[in-house]
Amino acid sequence: MGRVMSVQHENFFCSHDVVTSLLKAGVPANSKWGALILYMRSLSEYDFLSAEQKRQMQALVMGVVRDGDFSEKKFKEIVRSKEQILYQPWNKKLEETFRETVVLIEHVRSQNLLRTKEVRDLRETTISTVTDQNALEDIVLGIKAAFEKVLTHMEQDTRDLVEMSYTDSLTKLSNRRAFDRYYQTTLVEYMVTGNPMSLMFLDIDHFKDFNDSYGHRIGDQALVTVASKLTGYAQKYGTVPNRSFFPARFGGEEFVVVLPGVGLGEAAEDAENLRTIIEDYNFIIRDHNGQVLQKGIKITVSIGVAELKKDWADEAGARLLDEADKAMYRAKGRGRNRVCTMNER
Ligand code: GH3
Ligand code: MG
Ligand code: MG
Repeated sequence: MGRVMSVQHENFFCSHDVVTSLLKAGVPANSKWGALILYMRSLSEYDFLSAEQKRQMQALVMGVVRDGDFSEKKFKEIVRSKEQILYQPWNKKLEETFRETVVLIEHVRSQNLLRTKEVRDLRETTISTVTDQNALEDIVLGIKAAFEKVLTHMEQDTRDLVEMSYTDSLTKLSNRRAFDRYYQTTLVEYMVTGNPMSLMFLDIDHFKDFNDSYGHRIGDQALVTVASKLTGYAQKYGTVPNRSFFPARFGGEEFVVVLPGVGLGEAAEDAENLRTIIEDYNFIIRDHNGQVLQKGIKITVSIGVAELKKDWADEAGARLLDEADKAMYRAKGRGRNRVCTMNER
């Protein structure tokens, strides 16, 4: 998404030509050391590490470069000792994927059991219809009805599965896949008709700190809350003719809203309404038994808004997302908990 990486304190991390810096620091050229250090360096900018893990990772990289021990033994030692941190992003991604897959598999499994029973019943119905020596017409009607019942259920199963594969399992919002599908078709329509279309990009503020303070489980609850505010807003929108409000979870703590039929000014007003709704909400933390542990916690979001331009042609989809994303980053830069549009510089 063309984001500017955060600038770190040490010169080593600021360097524009990191590879040259590595060579200058004595890291052997074309060795796996270069790859490991670049990887570790990128990890320290990664979303999934805690502040403490990032600090450790940065200290480790600096230590390796300073000590200048690029032996095989040292390499293995580092990989083993920091295994936890090095694999963290993949673990997190796998965890997310597994969570979605487990829900799907469970659904398929239980539907399969149901349908297996129905097919068995169907076999019994068929056998008894035939052996009861009914008139041929009755036999055909009886079997046809039994088959149709099973087929209807199987069609419903397929619809349910498709629905699930387009839904984010945590927030129940449309997932990235659903967004991509909706976005592509809507874009084509709005480029052709010339009607206005806007896009919002929302990112929860300081969410890493939120997770660090309250833990990931509570962080997940916060994501569900923000998603519910988007769904609530979408429901109100449903009554306005010729305009839509399509929210989706873009990934992590980022959400997008597609606004077909809505120009930049109105989309910015919607964004401001949403920002206020989320800011005004008093987040409550409960334990497993539903007991309130803490009240009045605030979550805020930064929102970027952009409108489709007719002369963007083939690049329209990417440009609109990019403009909204850049505007969101301007909102972050200007202190967060605010809305910025593509027209403000
Ligand atoms: P900023 O205001 O600049 O956006 O600060 P930030 O801390 O929100 O920074 P960033 O957007 O980079 O942080 C994303 C955080 O979101 C880090 C990651 O741990 C957290 N996150 C992403 N997905 C999930 C999730 O599914 N559940 C939870 N609990 N946290 C998540
Ligand atoms: Mg983010
Ligand atoms: Mg954030």
